[in-house]
Amino acid sequence: MTIAPNFQTAAIDPKKLDKLAAVAVKVGLGLEQGQDLVITAPIAALPLVRLITKHAYMAGAGIVSTFYADEEATLARYEHAPDASFDKAAGWLYEGMAKAYENGAARLAIAGDNPMMLSGQDPAKVARANKANSMAYKPALEKIANFDINWNIVSYPNPSWARQVFPDLSEDAAVAKLADAIFAASRVDLDDPIAAWALHNANLNTRSTWLNGERFSALHFTGPGTDLTVGLADDHEWHGGASTAKNGITCNPNIPTEEVFTTPHALKVEGTVSSTKPLSHQGTLIDDIQVRFEGGRIVEAKASKGEEVLSKVLDTDEGARRLGEVALVPHSSPISKSGILFYNTLFDENASCHIALGQCYSKCFLDGASLTQDEIKAKGGNASLIHIDWMIGSDKVDIDGIKPDGSRVPVMRKGEWA
Ligand code: ZN
Ligand code: ZN
Repeated sequence: MTIAPNFQTAAIDPKKLDKLAAVAVKVGLGLEQGQDLVITAPIAALPLVRLITKHAYMAGAGIVSTFYADEEATLARYEHAPDASFDKAAGWLYEGMAKAYENGAARLAIAGDNPMMLSGQDPAKVARANKANSMAYKPALEKIANFDINWNIVSYPNPSWARQVFPDLSEDAAVAKLADAIFAASRVDLDDPIAAWALHNANLNTRSTWLNGERFSALHFTGPGTDLTVGLADDHEWHGGASTAKNGITCNPNIPTEEVFTTPHALKVEGTVSSTKPLSHQGTLIDDIQVRFEGGRIVEAKASKGEEVLSKVLDTDEGARRLGEVALVPHSSPISKSGILFYNTLFDENASCHIALGQCYSKCFLDGASLTQDEIKAKGGNASLIHIDWMIGSDKVDIDGIKPDGSRVPVMRKGEWA
């Protein structure tokens, strides 16, 4: 098997790929005249990187710098590196990225790695490498999580990812089908994607405005294997679609996006919840997750597949057992309707209501931009090295909003807005 990058794009519509690049720069980043841009990408995504770089310079970018990852090089580390390698990370690189963001650069990540790349590797080594990486990445990641800068993630139909999603198709057919799914979900199959995104952002804004007006103190999820009360953080704020970073630039961090989301209270989550889709976490598939919360903390966790990786994830740090995000997505979202399991959080989280373990988003608080880390913690915001979304919504899940006086308002019924 070869996973060498294929720089041919015969299976990928070049016009739509160009539209995706334009959407990433104009809608995703809102890149400003003179702003620098840092891109991270799998090397197979080179055709998209080149188009994004072109659109970025057309939008007036200062300097565009791209850092590539290569699957074969990553696997070579697991096969041949000395044991001590797995506690190391390229700290100098992440420090440089943090510095670039401090100096005003925007960040664009292209997703598309083979989600099962590390599935054959020793989970202990994977966990150590991930932890070392998370720690080194922290200063840069905080600037992203705290929304100091405008940032965006888009996806590229990497052949190794496409083969995972469509194992029965030839590589070209799989890439073509995944490309079409990415283009549809990213709204670049439409004549005027920029206008379509403006309309979509307005719709998501209507939902989050309604939820902000209701001021629920908790959400109650019920469904097969799920009876979960998610307390919401004090002064939480719902967000969805485009929002404005602390640098004043309005961007769409995720393309695609279908969710409205906010911050749960790290100490006020009770009950049991079952995942409704497998979670692909850095090369391992974790399936049929079932966890029980007490006082906001996961006290029991099991999974039919990948349980060992899940328990290592939960032991990353104290905040890894608590929630940092709760998000609502109707079951009829276009990604859900596609019926495709993408093995990629960016897509699968937008098919379904979800919760995330770990770090919260400070922007999901009233006046969040002015809050210190201690103030966020006091309001119930969680802190962790990780932020891992997993899917708990389906057409069998109901959600009630609970007001501070205990009264209930239907929010979703059978996976749709009530
Ligand atoms: Zn989310
Ligand atoms: Zn998330």
